[in-house]
Amino acid sequence: MLVPTDYQAFEETFGANNYKPLDVVLARGEGVWLWDVEGKRYLDCLAGYSAVSQGHCHPRIKQALIAQAGRLTLTSRAFRNDQLGPFFEELCALTRSHKVLPMNSGAEAVETAIKTVRKWGYEVKGVPADQAEVIVCADNFHGRTIAIVGFSTDPANRQGFGPFAPGFKVVPFGDAAAFEAAITPNTVAFLVEPIQGEAGVIIPPAGYLRRVRDICSKRGVVLILDEIQTGLGRTGKLLAEEHEGIEADLTLIGKALSGGFYPVSAVLSNSEVMGVLKPGEHGSTFGGNPLACAVARMALKVLVDEGMIKNSATLGAYFLDQLRRLGGFKEARGRGLMIGLDLDPAWGGGRRFCELMLERGVLCKETHGHTIRLSPPLVVTKTEIDWVLEQIAAVLRS
Ligand SMILES: *Cc1c(COP(=O)(O)O)cnc(C)c1O
Repeated sequence: MLVPTDYQAFEETFGANNYKPLDVVLARGEGVWLWDVEGKRYLDCLAGYSAVSQGHCHPRIKQALIAQAGRLTLTSRAFRNDQLGPFFEELCALTRSHKVLPMNSGAEAVETAIKTVRKWGYEVKGVPADQAEVIVCADNFHGRTIAIVGFSTDPANRQGFGPFAPGFKVVPFGDAAAFEAAITPNTVAFLVEPIQGEAGVIIPPAGYLRRVRDICSKRGVVLILDEIQTGLGRTGKLLAEEHEGIEADLTLIGKALSGGFYPVSAVLSNSEVMGVLKPGEHGSTFGGNPLACAVARMALKVLVDEGMIKNSATLGAYFLDQLRRLGGFKEARGRGLMIGLDLDPAWGGGRRFCELMLERGVLCKETHGHTIRLSPPLVVTKTEIDWVLEQIAAVLRS
């Protein structure tokens, strides 16, 4: 039988070195809980970077996956399948969208949106050929493809990977005036996260998205909200845009769209922008396959049926309030169950904090050195949050 150090040695010997995981080898999951190969239990406060919002191995999503896997898994979009239409219809009804373009990873949804707004710029807005500009924010995270890392401002994401695609301009996050000043006649879109996730759960000033929405409408710029992390209940609303009562022109979702079972992403759009794509101009072998659609349909259904969005709002507010009462760190901020905890720089670093939490049976992950992201599955209970708070208190005291 393999022991934990064997799994680690295999990964390190044969795997590319592009991750530095905590030393825990997980073998099973159920709801908010995970078990390692030796049977020790952990409460998952990362939830696959928000992909497992519905909880690990949710029984109804699992059933949908198994049933569909026994019927039909992939047709390609050369033919129609009986899951795609219902998936589109249900997703549009839920999100009040007109059109859906299904992809697999989040990065593919971002790439799809960029292609779409460039084409819209040339065909509808009248931008001269190859002059389209997309404005993005400093400290963004939109994925790992060449185009996307090319407009990242994090040296670790981009250094050594050039040359990059032109046509992107970076402005500070949370500054609507800076965004407006950067617009030119060739600006086709503004791509922004409602709350910056990987940057450390950075919440923009109140009213920012509403101002950005107004500026985009006035200046003929497509507003693309990357809700791959903030979407589908994570912040206590179905989409984070609802906190400011706005609607994006394009909305990107992924991660929790499949409840962690399978990579499924989508671009949601109004008809005008998506209307520029014609047959043969964009696609994906796996995008919109019947297995993905069946899984996503059930992942959305349980999110709504089982009250997970409301739970995220209520317990997220409770978690944040209790953290602030606890003290012992620099700052806690969040919306719903998307919470960032800034440790004091003197504390010894986020990695150390996560290692001590691991010993106490809680899985979490640091981002950018001193910030801990707390984003448990949306099915977490108050008792479980109280228990996590006890472990945080004990680690902060140590
Ligand atoms: C995770 C994430 C992505 C990329 O998704 P992948 O599935 O890893 O390609 C894009 N944008 C945001 C905001 C994300 O959090």
